[in-house]
Amino acid sequence: MRIYLDNAASTPLDTEVLESMMPFMKENFGNPNSLHTHGRIVRSAIENSRRKIADLLNTSPSEIFFTSGGTESDNMALLQTIETYKISHILSSKIEHHAVLHTIESLHKNRNIDVSYIDLDKKGHINLETLETFLIHHTGNALVSLMHANNEIGNITDIELVGKLCKKYKVFFHSDTVQTMGHYPHNLKKLPIDFIVGSGHKFHGPKGIGFIYINNTNTIAPFIQGGSQERNMRGGTENVTGIVGIAKALEIAYSQMNEHEKNIKHVKQYMIRKLQETFPKILFNGDSDSLEKSLYTILNVSFPEHEDNDMLLFHLDIEKISASGGSACTSGSLKGSHVLEILQVNPKRGNIRFSFSKYTTIQDIDFTIEKLLKIFSKKKYN
Ligand code: PLP
Repeated sequence: MRIYLDNAASTPLDTEVLESMMPFMKENFGNPNSLHTHGRIVRSAIENSRRKIADLLNTSPSEIFFTSGGTESDNMALLQTIETYKISHILSSKIEHHAVLHTIESLHKNRNIDVSYIDLDKKGHINLETLETFLIHHTGNALVSLMHANNEIGNITDIELVGKLCKKYKVFFHSDTVQTMGHYPHNLKKLPIDFIVGSGHKFHGPKGIGFIYINNTNTIAPFIQGGSQERNMRGGTENVTGIVGIAKALEIAYSQMNEHEKNIKHVKQYMIRKLQETFPKILFNGDSDSLEKSLYTILNVSFPEHEDNDMLLFHLDIEKISASGGSACTSGSLKGSHVLEILQVNPKRGNIRFSFSKYTTIQDIDFTIEKLLKIFSKKKYN
């Protein structure tokens, strides 16, 4: 048995989702852009999926566009808004996912776009007063990009409040909602925002499929040139199985959301308590031990008296536990976490992100605590 505690990196595919996708790998293979019956069956599956997602998010299907995932959706929102509306200034934070951060850095370097990073408090929360001061003084067209829940520490930003400020000062607002999509009920009738995004594999859907919501007050330039797919916004034959799968996954996520939130919060609370009892000097990074201010699926901890993060993860892996040192997207690089660095977390401690899903059990946590105790008592890596 292996214990999987890396659900912020990716979640297992739901069997019902797989079943919904199978007919589109086999008998329903037509090109959705063909006018014959084979094509029309597939076209109708795509449009039904779009409608399903739009209904769940309380918006119109004309505002949902399928993409290859979170990274592409974030890139699309930022690059195409800059291009279309001649944005001269971006406001963001230094703890965004690299899909946003690297895009902004490249826009600054190559396109001379001004970038301001909003102050964070000690726990890594956005200072909304600084944001408002920036918004009052901005000149030209500006864009705010602030994530909903941080993928490493789980900190939640009140995007409704940020959205209201952006509206007041007539500034575009994009939020990377990859970690909250499917775990938090987004209501786009109420939320004043221009762009939010989703990625299938973060809520038990397939990998390589995502979507972007574009508020229909905006008409941004197409992202991928080619055919007229996705109403001219993204050329290329659609990832049909992915589209059917992501819609099914979101439907399941919404139908079980309250129950899963309750169960996963219980698991998280249990792990916090067990860790504190077992390792009295343990710290929690960001606000990840707060059940209100951090996403219930993420717990980022800092173990004392420990030299090498990678070795700790390696020992956990040997003990059949999969966890992570931070964002999965940086796991191939030698660099540490940019989020923990900004928060001045001591890199000499063992900083591990545990992340949960509807499949995580109390037994998984007990097993993990037992193995952590074994690893630390042996001090193999000192
Ligand atoms: N944004 C956040 C906050 C994420 O956690 C991730 C994935 O780790 C992404 C963007 C990228 O999503 P995708 O893997 O679908 O490209």
